[in-house]
Amino acid sequence: LSTIDAIAAVRSFLSTGLRISAAMASHVVGYPRMGPKRELKFALESFWDKKSSASDLEKVAKDLRCSIWQQMSSAGISYIPSNTFSYYDQVLDTTALVGAVPSRYGWAGGEIGFDVYFSMARGNATCPAMEMTKWFDTNYHYIVPELGPDTKFVLSSHKAVDEYKEAKALGIETIPVLVGPFSYLRLAKPAKGVEPTYNCLSLIDSLLPVYKEVILKLKSEGATWIQLDEPTLVLDLESHHYEIFKKAYEYLGSEVSGIKILVETYFADIPAAAYKTLTGLKNVTAIGVDLVRGKKTLDLIQDVGLPDGKLLFAGVVDGRNIWANDLAESISLLEKLCAKLGKERVVVSTSCSLLHTAVDLKNETKIDAELKSWFAFAAQKVIEVVALAKALHGSKDEAFFAENAAALASRRSSPRVHDPTVQKLASEIKNSEHRRSTPVVNRLEEQQKHMNLPILPTTSIGSFPQTLELRRVRREFKANKISEEAYIKAIQAEIGKVVVLQEELDIDVLVHGEPERNDMVEYFGEQLKGFVFTENGWVQSYGSRCVKPPIIFGDVSRPKAMTVFWSKYAQSLTKRPMKGMLTGPVTILNWSFVRNDQPRSETCYQIALAIKDEVEDLEAAGINVIQIDEAALREGLPLRKSEQANYLNWAVHSFRITNCGVKDTTQIHTHMCYSHFNDIIHSIIDMDADVITIENSRSDEKLLRVFKEGVKYAAGIGPGVYDIHSPRIPDVEEIADRIRKMLDVLELRVLWVNPDCGLKTRKYSEVKPALINMVTAAKKIRTEL
Ligand code: GLN
Ligand code: ZN
Repeated sequence: LSTIDAIAAVRSFLSTGLRISAAMASHVVGYPRMGPKRELKFALESFWDKKSSASDLEKVAKDLRCSIWQQMSSAGISYIPSNTFSYYDQVLDTTALVGAVPSRYGWAGGEIGFDVYFSMARGNATCPAMEMTKWFDTNYHYIVPELGPDTKFVLSSHKAVDEYKEAKALGIETIPVLVGPFSYLRLAKPAKGVEPTYNCLSLIDSLLPVYKEVILKLKSEGATWIQLDEPTLVLDLESHHYEIFKKAYEYLGSEVSGIKILVETYFADIPAAAYKTLTGLKNVTAIGVDLVRGKKTLDLIQDVGLPDGKLLFAGVVDGRNIWANDLAESISLLEKLCAKLGKERVVVSTSCSLLHTAVDLKNETKIDAELKSWFAFAAQKVIEVVALAKALHGSKDEAFFAENAAALASRRSSPRVHDPTVQKLASEIKNSEHRRSTPVVNRLEEQQKHMNLPILPTTSIGSFPQTLELRRVRREFKANKISEEAYIKAIQAEIGKVVVLQEELDIDVLVHGEPERNDMVEYFGEQLKGFVFTENGWVQSYGSRCVKPPIIFGDVSRPKAMTVFWSKYAQSLTKRPMKGMLTGPVTILNWSFVRNDQPRSETCYQIALAIKDEVEDLEAAGINVIQIDEAALREGLPLRKSEQANYLNWAVHSFRITNCGVKDTTQIHTHMCYSHFNDIIHSIIDMDADVITIENSRSDEKLLRVFKEGVKYAAGIGPGVYDIHSPRIPDVEEIADRIRKMLDVLELRVLWVNPDCGLKTRKYSEVKPALINMVTAAKKIRTEL
């Protein structure tokens, strides 16, 4: 290298603000906060229970952050994010950042501490928590900001600055991450008392100065880059949204010169209009795109290009799944981008924050080596990102790539993955119609002839309280500490108790209570072929809560009946109809890590076939009412309208496959949580279940509005008459009132009476009186009619 070259290299190095060569740049959008063994969860819960101090909690948090930065730094990531840690949620952190605390939490101004922060997250003695809702189409939930014309934004949290400084003290330069101002407002809702049509985006002008202030603070601490996450840009927006976005970033760009702005988008293709708006912004130096979910984004970049001087953060490593990256495929994609933009402008990145995947494969001791070689959790994905960046620039780690290629080859050809029989069956059903031949109205008549139920029949959703004793029995059986015989006895005794209780309560259609199940997906996944379970593959759902999704790695089939034994036993104890209880294919799919080597629909069809076998076995065993829960059907809905019809089509088809083969006299129920159904009501009708029980009581009877508006619904329907998520016991009049309201919009002959959801998280001391009141209310109305 000549001196001139060397100086030029140093200049370009300084000008892009990187610590290592810009020519090997790598980046991670965000990282899981919980820790490899859910350390943060336990620290939070112990703090909330007053078993440990604030400084104990802070210590755990600090250690987690530092170990993540060190891990990324030693892996060689050039753009390491900071402020992706959170004690609860990054949107709530933003609410704290800008001081948008709803007045009911009694905040008096100043730096927001744990008190106010956790009150907003979890409620306090005098007021409930802020609303929480799903973060796009993930299973993560954020705290919804409540804004209105009176909201005054003021910088009220130094968390972002503190974290930047904390990393710097370790000698690690980071790129601080904030939820972008546009997405923050777009994800907010009008506060209580504000017009429901109020547009939170109208607050942008008063919000931006706070962003400016924090960004300048970061800059004065030495930050050279800032990452603003604007995932709402991938949604269906209108042109005035782009105008607001443009104005916002023009303002920030001109007010905070000297710090480079990266705008991150993720979770779907970036629409052309959003891409053009974004790349047209003079002061946005870099944009991040999701190239895993955004299959059309590559074409867009190739067609439209990227103005000179701007960088592309190419999200090729999947942040939403646990599969090892196909490094060869990623390299070929990255090379296409490099050919178009030039190598120095492409930064290898993750598709989105790694928050949505498991933390570290290292802690899995029970999964065999072959399967493990197919997986990459967050820690492994960091390594993949660096390996790709290096390979792109001529320093390919041949051994690492060879190992990856071998693992992928074994996955592609493994008989553990591919079962020709299943594939044949699944491909045959794809293009045919599966529908029960008799219309639902006639089926219901046939069923009623056999069942002879009263009007307003009462039922429950499936689970009964899961006592400590019950959990102990299941745990000990799993650990081989008690015999199968003892286990069966204990579960049967529990079923017996639940049956007797329901008969005493005079409920019409009974359930067995699900005492044998830990979780409605895990229970089935453990018995189906093609699934594997992790020990520590936790993913944050909200606050300290995590879920451990099963991994579907292979073709799915059912070696033997899964629920028949228990349902048959339960039915033998009573003359009343006993519901068989299954989880539907779409819910099993949406609550799992799904294979990426075939379309999701294909996997869903395979699960549907397995559940179909179970439905038919239950019917043959004399179970005449079968409930197939599809609690998560709504969750899988794609973000973009243009993709929704296709999803609903195969999802609803999969559901129908499970039960199209039963007799007219077999009554198929389904159950759904959450009540945002108004936009998909026609798909729900198209599921063609005989009866649907559905969440209703937490949503101001939103659900009923759709029927008021004239949607014809011929099947049975049980909108929940009370909220099981709260320990409160509803009184008879309150439930009766609810039923009367439903009767205003629904025909008497279709209406069922049931709680909102399963009772497993409640205590018997809550469940008994609530169900007594529910049955009393139903009987009362029967006599009024
Ligand atoms: N049958 C399940 C239960 O009662 C349904 C749970 C759910 O909808 N999430 O527990
Ligand atoms: Zn439910």
